[in-house]
Amino acid sequence: MVQNLSRIIAQDKNFLNIINGRRVAALSQETITVLCPSDGLAFATIPAGSAGDVDRAVSAAREAFDHGPWSRMTAVERGRLLTRLGRLIEQHGDELAALESRDTGKPIRQGRADVAAAMRYYEFYGGAGDKIHGDTIPFLDGYTALTLREPHGVVAGIIPWNYPMQIMARVVGAALAMGNTLVVKPAEDASLSTIRIGELAVDAGFPDGVLNVITGYGREAGAALSSHPGIDYVTFTGSPTTGTAIQQAAATNNRGVTMELGGKSPQIVFADTDIERALPVLVNAIIQNGGQTCSAGSRILIERPIYDEVATALGERFNKLVAGPHDADLDLGAMINPAQKRRVENYVRAAAEAGIDVAGRGSIDSNAPAAGFYVAPVLFGAVDPSAIIAQEEVFGPVLSLFAFNDEQDAIRLANSTEYGLVAGVWTKDGARQHRVAKRIRAGQVFVNAYGAGGGIELPFGGFKKSGHGREKGFEALYDMSATKTIIFRHD
Ligand code: NAD
Repeated sequence: MVQNLSRIIAQDKNFLNIINGRRVAALSQETITVLCPSDGLAFATIPAGSAGDVDRAVSAAREAFDHGPWSRMTAVERGRLLTRLGRLIEQHGDELAALESRDTGKPIRQGRADVAAAMRYYEFYGGAGDKIHGDTIPFLDGYTALTLREPHGVVAGIIPWNYPMQIMARVVGAALAMGNTLVVKPAEDASLSTIRIGELAVDAGFPDGVLNVITGYGREAGAALSSHPGIDYVTFTGSPTTGTAIQQAAATNNRGVTMELGGKSPQIVFADTDIERALPVLVNAIIQNGGQTCSAGSRILIERPIYDEVATALGERFNKLVAGPHDADLDLGAMINPAQKRRVENYVRAAAEAGIDVAGRGSIDSNAPAAGFYVAPVLFGAVDPSAIIAQEEVFGPVLSLFAFNDEQDAIRLANSTEYGLVAGVWTKDGARQHRVAKRIRAGQVFVNAYGAGGGIELPFGGFKKSGHGREKGFEALYDMSATKTIIFRHD
């Protein structure tokens, strides 16, 4: 499969933007070189879009929204196009999985899981847009009042490099289901699958200008897009720092935003937990995608009587983890780029120098190319909750363990960071499951599970520094539309 992809890429190394249903280079003709994280080698280029390219894409989306057939199509017709795009993604699944894993360095089985999740988003939203409706509201005598859910207009979707295909799918699915048109700006480090899906959307029959994909650096294309007065709403997934910049840019035009930012997600393990069942889930929650996951379970809080047992078992598992090339399909792949690799290594070095106990450490495959961006997974034990490693998002395969005394202590520790994206609670005690789940400040709380199967149907988003607004499920359809109230007088 990966050999197949090498052939595909050899024939088409220069990926182009999709604007108004056509493949186009940047106006400047400039490109960004795409490196494979597994070996550090260049294998493709993408356009280095800037303000002029953004302007073209926004104009195309505006024209499609204001005057195109899109604005006259019903929710059912829009849904059929989304469903058709999902089928095309399924048909091109091998190509897309290989492309995503080569572009991001993730193991090929994660690339396949991303294809399945993307397909499921288009399937879900293909059938969801026609289920959203307004209300009639009791009002004054002689009046009837009702509400409609209307699209915002032209939406900008700015997405990160960790799950480009999945995050594009949740944005495209919800925005287009509600009748918006879109300009998607993927991250400069991983744009290829989003361009391919833009091409497939043309094949699926979306009218010109409905779905535009424009690549480029964040400080150029991203900044131009988020501040563009022709954009009616911005949805962003990425780092809190960039999220603040994008909110400020959108505020210059008083536009609404959805912000999906980072996390420092805790899992609380009470003494009555079925440890054998929990262990693989606890490890996977930090290893998946090399820990470059906003919902990574990067903190494990363990009730003191079982701390040693769980820490030892996790250490044994960590010692066996191996990072390697995407096509070797090992436990984890490479980091996305050299800067991310250095960032993770710096966190690990600083924590070790601060005297934090290394309770487990994986390795890098001996066959992995030396120029790849690999880091070995690290488990830190008995971490002080105020330590940097306990507070900041590492975005790498680094897990911290903490001991707690009782339920109150566990809740306090779980809520002791600036983030609030996801959490896990492990206990057989039903009343405690409810109590703790309610008191954790996080947008999603798993009980005796974590990150189960993508959860396309389940609302997702943050409290606190992790962001605001909700993606996934039906909630995203409300974020991607606005309520219009119509009042009739008939006395
Ligand atoms: P990032 O913020 O650097 O970049 C994300 C996107 O924003 C990219 O497309 C980038 O080009 C663009 N961008 C950068 N600067 C910009 C600017 N000034 N104006 C407009 N756009 C700009 O994030 P990243 O490094 O790609 O992703 C890692 C971060 O994203 C982590 O903090 C992670 O937790 C977070 N993340 C959150 C979620 C979630 O759903 N909550 C999902 C994935 C990643």
